[in-house]
This record gives sequence, C-alpha cells and structure tokens, in this order.
Amino acid sequence: MSNLIVQKYGGTSVATAERLHAVAERIARKRSEGVGVAAVVSARGDMTDELIRQAHEITDRPPRREMDMLLATGEQISVALLAMALDRRGVPAISLTGAQGGIRTDQVHTKARIRAVEPKRLIRELEAGKVVIVAGFQGMNEVEDITTLGRGGSDTTAVALAAALGADVCEIFTDVDGVYTADPRVVPNARLLPRVSYGEMLELASLGAAVLQPRAVEVAAQHKVRVEVRSSFNHNPGTVVEEMEPMEQDVVVVGVTHDRNVAKVTLRRVPDQPGVAHRIFSALAEGGVNVDVIVQTTSQQEVTDMIFSINRDDRVHALEIMERVRGELDAGPVETDEGVAKVSIVGAGMVSNPGVAARMFGALAREGVNIQVISTSEIKVSCLIAEEEVERAVRAVHDEFELGEDPEMERRE
Ligand code: ADP
Ligand code: ASP
Ligand code: MG
Repeated sequence: MSNLIVQKYGGTSVATAERLHAVAERIARKRSEGVGVAAVVSARGDMTDELIRQAHEITDRPPRREMDMLLATGEQISVALLAMALDRRGVPAISLTGAQGGIRTDQVHTKARIRAVEPKRLIRELEAGKVVIVAGFQGMNEVEDITTLGRGGSDTTAVALAAALGADVCEIFTDVDGVYTADPRVVPNARLLPRVSYGEMLELASLGAAVLQPRAVEVAAQHKVRVEVRSSFNHNPGTVVEEMEPMEQDVVVVGVTHDRNVAKVTLRRVPDQPGVAHRIFSALAEGGVNVDVIVQTTSQQEVTDMIFSINRDDRVHALEIMERVRGELDAGPVETDEGVAKVSIVGAGMVSNPGVAARMFGALAREGVNIQVISTSEIKVSCLIAEEEVERAVRAVHDEFELGEDPEMERRE
C-alpha cells in the first residue's frame, strides 16, 4: 500500500498513561496528514521482565508454550490501551493480537521466527480508514498456539509488517535518539549515527546493541525496508538503516557493543579424536542452543578442553545437554562461568585495515582488562572479558577509535 507507514513503540514509550497519550498524539498527527498508520506496540515498561519473574515464582522450568501464553499478555494490554487513547481523540483505531494481525510463525516457543504475514485483515481495516495497532513480539504457529519472537521481538513484528504491507518506512520509536557508536547509557560521549548499513546494523544488533532485534535487521535487509530509529520523546530525525554502497562505509570501526547475556562453558578433558566437536555442537544445535565463540585448547595427553560461549538464558538447558554428552564421550567435568561479558568492535572497513584488532587489544591491555577468549570475522572483533570490567572496557575501546563527539566541534558550535 502506498502512503502508509509502520511505527513501533517500545516499552518505555508506553510505560505510563502520559507516555501512552503522547504516542496516541503522534499517531493522530500522522493520520491527520492523510498517512495510513499501522502501529506495533511492546509491553509497558518492564512488564515482560515482571511476567518472567512471576513464572519463575511458580517453577524453575516453565513449559515454553505456557511461557508464550503468559508473555503475550503484556503486549495485549498495550494495544488495547493505545486503541482507547486514539478513540478518545476521535481517531478510528482497532487493536489486534499478533494472530489476528496475520503473524504466522514456526513452532519454536519463546524464540519463534516469523514465517509469513497474512495481511488481509490488516489491509481491510486500513482501507476502512482505521489506525491498526498490532501487538508486537507475538504470533501464531501452525497448530494455532501463541508464540513469541524472543526478547526485543516487537522490532521484528514491525519490520515484517512493513515488508508485507509495502509501507514507505518502518519507524522504530525508542527511548534514545537513534543508533549510537556505543550504548549511550554506558558511553556518555557516544555519537549518534545518522546512517548505518544493514550489514553493520545486523552485526551491531547481534553483538549486543539492544536498540534493534537482530532478526528485525535481517528481515529489513531481505525486503529492503527502510528503517528509521528515533526517539518517542522528541522529533529529531534519528538514524536511517538502509542499503549503503561499500564506498560510503569508509570508517574502519562504526561502533563498540557489549553484551552481558553471555555465559562461558568449559568441557574439560575431551578425548582428542575426530568427530568429538561434531557430537558436542550438534547436540547443542538440536537443543536450540546458539553457540558463539568456540576455542579448543591444544591437546595434552590426548585430551583437550573445549571452551565456548552461549546466551546466559540458555544456561540450564545447555548444561543438561552437556552433562549427557560428557557421559557419552567420557570427558571431564563441565564448568560454567556467568561472570563474563562480550565487548566487540564492528565495521565494514575492517577487512582492508590490518592492525584494527591489535589496537583493540592494546586499549584493553592499557585498561588492565584481561581477554579470556577472542573471535574475529571480516566485520567484527569480539573479546570475552570479566563482566565487572565491561563498562570500562567499552569506554576504553570507544576512545581508542575516537568514536566520541568531538569536543572541539562542540566548542565551535
Ligand atoms: P525499546 O523498549 O524501545 O525496544 P530497548 O531497551 O529494547 O528499547 O532498546 C533501546 C536501548 O538500547 C537504549 O535505551 C540503549 O540503552 C540501548 N542500546 C545499546 N546499544 C545501543 C546503541 N549502540 N545505540 C543506541 N542504543 C543502544
Ligand atoms: N516485550 C518484549 C520484550 O521485552 C518484546 C519487545 O519489547 O520488543 O522483550
Ligand atoms: Mg527493544
């Protein structure tokens, strides 16, 4: 549809009645310009965390299907209240669950992926002149159960809807002005990036820049959806995420990220034989556990240690799998360390610039931060370090690559 935009409002943006009214006001203004609006909304404030807490009050191991049933309620509160706020302003609006909005997902409860969007109902309501408000983060699987899309999943709902509806733009409204060179809450002089490519944004998001869910960036890149990340507290232009020519991406390092949702797992004394790594990592993959950095120590007396990192959320599940594999392989004990975090630098220009990784290691060394595990690719360098050192580490690396606001420039303004 032409002359249509998708807007997504995050949890902080709808946390209070006042904030919710401000969101309704922004939508109403857009609508009065003759633009069709489909809005995607997240659960209010820290409602999702609160629901997770409630589940764990009942059991350590909530069934994932029931977890989705529970978590989906958070977004349903938001959509209904926002529809009421628009109604109060005389703006025709209708709230829909993910299922009603046509969000079809696979079967993987708590981490489902959107398989298709069936936008018939949405289009009908939009054509009737209504603002359509869709619950983010949730969908329905083949057997008509509610699923959720993983933390931050409302971003993905919004981008998928924008793609399915052929919207002109997908605006992601959040509690910061856009995408910065580092988390502005950790690095006070982080600089706002006016533009960022899909590739770099995907890497930033995957490595911990919570401002967009990685899957949202993937869907945006696939369908060439123009994404604008903006603040719901002001009218600043924010950050545009779009296709960029390699020539335009001439900065070596675009940003520094950190991720605390990490745990390090060590399997001691693994027999040094062909097929062992395959056994370990296929068991984890079958269990739906994403493995990130992997290191195998050199063999001594025909055994090695296998060290890898996972999401901290997957820790209990991963440990169960590893205990089983350990028995099968007759390996030593499994150890986990949750006191770790990951610091990364991202930039498309890194490929053609040798010595970038060394500069990062130098900055960490000067700060007295010990690196436990390193992993690199063409577009990023990641280091696992002690969690308590993560903020200092991010600031040191950010300074090393001179990513911050230029104090000279500020004085000149
Ligand atoms: P929402 O509820 O709107 O989805 P999130 O909390 O999911 O908001 O994401 C926004 C937060 O992401 C910001 O408050 C900020 O602290 C964090 N963040 C981390 N890295 C970055 C970055 N590089 N740029 C902007 N924000 C970032
Ligand atoms: N409410 C969900 C979460 O907190 C989804 C989202 O906010 O995007 O992760
Ligand atoms: Mg979010």
